[in-house]
Amino acid sequence: MKSQPKQQARIAKQSQFLLNLANNGLVGVGVIDGGRFSFVNRRLAMLTGYDRRELRGLQDLGALFPQYALLVEQLACGQTEYLAETQLIQYSGQRLDVEVCLIHTFLGDRDLIVLFVLDISLRKRSESSAQLAALVYENTSEGMVITDANGVVIDVNPAFTEITGYTLSDIVGRSMNLISSGRQSPHFYKKMWKQLQETGRWQGELWNRRKNGEEYAERLTISTCYNEDGSVSRRIGLFFDITDHKQREEEFWRQANHDHLTGLPNRQMFQHRLQEAMKLARKYEKEFALIFLDLDLFKDVNDTLGHDVGNLLLKEASQRLLSCVRDTDTVARIGGDEFTVIVTDVPNQTVVQRICEDILKKIAQPYLLGENTATVSASIGVTMYPEDAKDAGELLKNADMAMYAAKDCGRNQYCFFLPAMSEAIRARMLFSQSLQTAIAENQFVLYYQPIVNMKTGAVDRFEALIRWHHPELGLVLPSEYIPFAEDSGLIVDIGQWVFEAAVAQAKKWYEQGYRFRLSINVSPAQFYGDGVDAEQWIAILEASRVPLCFFVIEITERLLLDANPMITETLARLREAGLRIALDDFGTGFSSLTYLKRYPIDFIKIDQSFVRHLAPYSEDLALCEAMIVMAQKLGLGVIAEGIEGPQQEALLLAAGCTYGQGYLYSRPVPVQELERWLAERNIRPVISSTNKDQSTTGQFPNCT
Ligand code: C2E
Ligand code: MG
Ligand code: MG
Repeated sequence: MKSQPKQQARIAKQSQFLLNLANNGLVGVGVIDGGRFSFVNRRLAMLTGYDRRELRGLQDLGALFPQYALLVEQLACGQTEYLAETQLIQYSGQRLDVEVCLIHTFLGDRDLIVLFVLDISLRKRSESSAQLAALVYENTSEGMVITDANGVVIDVNPAFTEITGYTLSDIVGRSMNLISSGRQSPHFYKKMWKQLQETGRWQGELWNRRKNGEEYAERLTISTCYNEDGSVSRRIGLFFDITDHKQREEEFWRQANHDHLTGLPNRQMFQHRLQEAMKLARKYEKEFALIFLDLDLFKDVNDTLGHDVGNLLLKEASQRLLSCVRDTDTVARIGGDEFTVIVTDVPNQTVVQRICEDILKKIAQPYLLGENTATVSASIGVTMYPEDAKDAGELLKNADMAMYAAKDCGRNQYCFFLPAMSEAIRARMLFSQSLQTAIAENQFVLYYQPIVNMKTGAVDRFEALIRWHHPELGLVLPSEYIPFAEDSGLIVDIGQWVFEAAVAQAKKWYEQGYRFRLSINVSPAQFYGDGVDAEQWIAILEASRVPLCFFVIEITERLLLDANPMITETLARLREAGLRIALDDFGTGFSSLTYLKRYPIDFIKIDQSFVRHLAPYSEDLALCEAMIVMAQKLGLGVIAEGIEGPQQEALLLAAGCTYGQGYLYSRPVPVQELERWLAERNIRPVISSTNKDQSTTGQFPNCT
């Protein structure tokens, strides 16, 4: 028999042991006696948020465990122990997932329940996120594939099968290479693997092949799961099908970069290719040629056969162009009838010359366009990179200039760019810019040169000659800019300014009592379009109150060559209103007698080239005599230009010419100087200030 103290010590040890067990930090422990806690450990207090005393004071454990009654019921069914997952409601009102174990026991005569409570909220949470992940994996429209570290497939989701056509059994245990399209280079995959190894992630677009052989584009993200030791456990590929998107994108790109009519690259694409060509040429130290082509007189095809036929021709021409170069060269349409060709990697200019000749030949072949046949030719400009220019804009400008040079040389030919072209064009541009502002800046002024009656010495008429006071170049003579103004159309505004300024001067003279006739030069280019509006001019003249017969319009033969009814009508209308018409520079052009008869002409002006070397018995004298006789027979007045010396005057007088103009009498001078000139010669107003309305009489011209 054991002694009393020994037994007590053992009991004390045991209860200490049980207390330690009960006070563990992992599991909440409570002893329920008669529906209330008789004991709770610290962990249970912590889990519930109550303090231990409050817990012991709880009357209804159902407030703590909503399923308490149910749990106890299970015990009542004869079981001594019951394990369940449930929830407890914390002091704060929050619910906590727990696992409980209830043990039915007796202590002496007391019927007790020992309750163990384990917090399983963490496990529950990860369980639910795993469930969620599985749900996503199964139902997402993104394809997913899980491989091992070597890229061998472990699992795929249904979307993978939907996109690729491969089921799990088709692909499990195999490499992802199975679906590769071969579109990406080995280098592409090498880079992908390198990045995966370094960062564990890769993202990009690639083309793969479906089970049915069809290629598709996907946007793929690969991520990596690692083992604890840092080695790769899994690779996860996540992708979606972007084939439609890609196709739309490609179509959009194609439309933005290609010409709708011909399907050739457009200007934008051409610019891009030009940059590319420059990059490659620099890298490999090669040359390339840029060809600029413009169809000659294509507008005529459009105007006569209509735009639809014109379009057919453009399409055909672009095909012909393509047939002249290699696939690697670029043929682009950059404007209506303007094409460019980039011929890369040219060993020498002879190759380019041959291509240009081929193009010219092919373009010039007749075009069968539905029921019509048309022919066009091409003007071609060529520039070489890097020889002629280093940047794209400059290259295109060069080729364009060379093309214009080809046009100037008579079309249907090619011209290589020369640096002189660019200087000429630059000068032309500067000139054009300053000419455009010359009127607004008041830089034009009219000079007047007298026309003298050589028989009497009387001066009754002047020619207005334009002068340009250029701010930098000083006085510029009309021969330097009139042709240019004619080409550019600026002549219309300049001509209108001349006309109005001359009329204003004539009005002044008339009001001062002079009765001078005034010759105004009108360029042929002014007669086209809206240059000379006869009615408007007549109205201006009438408003000046100077009789219209005091005005002479000087035209050149060039104008009469063009049998345009608009010109004839304008001239006839001016003449009918009373103006006089003089044919300037007579003898230099075609000098056809028919013109003199057909058009309403009053005077001819013998060109100074005949007068310059006038000498007795000279050929020029014979020509002058012939012109004078002819004019007299036709009833036309004659004025000789460019008389510089008395001998010329004497010879012309002897030949029967009455009027002369030249440095012998005066150079063209501004109006202030002219006043001095008139005073020196004692030329005064013929009408006194008191008698201004009187019509002209005597040696002075009148309108009869
Ligand atoms: P044009 O109408 O035949 O004018 C006569 C030209 O001969 C003028 O040259 C004049 O200065 C020059 N001249 C006159 N006498 C002599 C002479 O004795 N010796 C020499 N060597 N030359 C003489 P300019 O003023 O330089 O004008 C040249 C041409 O420019 C004019 O030839 C005319 O065709 C055109 N032009 C002048 N002013 C105008 C204008 O207002 N409008 C238009 N459309 N053309 C104009
Ligand atoms: Mg003239
Ligand atoms: Mg002349």
